[in-house]
Amino acid sequence: MPETSAIVLEPTNNFLSFVQSHTGENITSCYQCGKCSAGCPTAYAMDITPRQVMRGIQLGLKDEILDSSAIWLCVSCQTCSLRCPREIDIAKIMESLRLFSQAEGRPPAQREIAVFYSAFLQQVRLFGRLHEIGLAITYNVLSMHFFNNIKRLPALLTRGKLKLVPQRTKGSSEVRQIEARVKELERKSS
Ligand code: SF4
Ligand code: SF4
Repeated sequence: MPETSAIVLEPTNNFLSFVQSHTGENITSCYQCGKCSAGCPTAYAMDITPRQVMRGIQLGLKDEILDSSAIWLCVSCQTCSLRCPREIDIAKIMESLRLFSQAEGRPPAQREIAVFYSAFLQQVRLFGRLHEIGLAITYNVLSMHFFNNIKRLPALLTRGKLKLVPQRTKGSSEVRQIEARVKELERKSS
């Protein structure tokens, strides 16, 4: 029997190699201690925990991972990345998995969250910053939750917490240039 420390898990499948090469993270080194899951504030709602996501990648379970709710319920808080004794940036991997899932045209396991991301980016694209009312309207329409949070609107407007008219930042054109550049880099790397 080999000693446990002598057992090295090699990247033996395409999905593991793909995720490792695109994130630059050594997922192979995860030894399933579970510290990431223990600290994750949204693990209780996920179908599989961050630790299981790492194990699933090691085993090449592409469909199970890219179709999971876990990758959409991750809020990028970085707690897991800070706690990991193997210094794996799990938050970065979760974000990459969302992108991989979208790139393959898979229906997101949490549709509303994907809609929220897209509504958020649309506002930033338009104004160079977030316009909260624009975000709320876009999200409500795209998610078909037309009256979501509508009761809160009068109080927020009265207290000056929301601006009716969007304010474009001076750098809004630069934001669009950054987005175009990112898309170009993504095209080149795919
Ligand atoms: S904390 Fe790191 S080593 Fe531990 S299970 Fe999570 S990813 Fe793996
Ligand atoms: S970054 Fe995501 S997976 Fe990691 S602890 Fe935060 S919510 Fe959980």
